Amino acid sequence: MGAVDTFKARAELEVFCRAHLIPYCDLGMDVHKLNNGGYFVGGQVALSLPGDACMRCMGLITERRLSQEAARYGRAGGMPQVVWTNGVLASVAVNLIIQLFTPWQETDRRSTCIEFDANQNTLTTSHRIGELGPPSCRHFPTNEAGSPSFDIRDLRAATRMPA
Ligand SMILES: [Zn+2]
Repeated sequence: MGAVDTFKARAELEVFCRAHLIPYCDLGMDVHKLNNGGYFVGGQVALSLPGDACMRCMGLITERRLSQEAARYGRAGGMPQVVWTNGVLASVAVNLIIQLFTPWQETDRRSTCIEFDANQNTLTTSHRIGELGPPSCRHFPTNEAGSPSFDIRDLRAATRMPA
């Protein structure tokens, strides 16, 4: 489960999870100033499953977003976070994870993206999910995944994390 502030961090978490065949659930929200002086508050929860659509397939991670973010690097602050909207997103994320591990109904175990429009008080499946075909992802071929097992020593070695 990831709730990070940058697209770069999201992309890195997803790469790690795909390499180890771990389902990744990502939460994100933002506040946008509208031309009419008001604000749009909303976000999304993306469930990225190995062998199925990734966040790039869903249009959440794009080269444009990554390069815009890199251009802003070092300019911290000014990104408001709203507790109650994050609470909605966190509950949706927990719902998706619980459905993965203890399904209470017949359901497709597919990647998905649920969008929250806090202005309209709606939760909807992203239109991009409906445009995806059968489970696949050209960004993370399953034959290029690493070991499904995970050893913290490998992560420490790769990131120089202290023991
Ligand atoms: Zn993909």
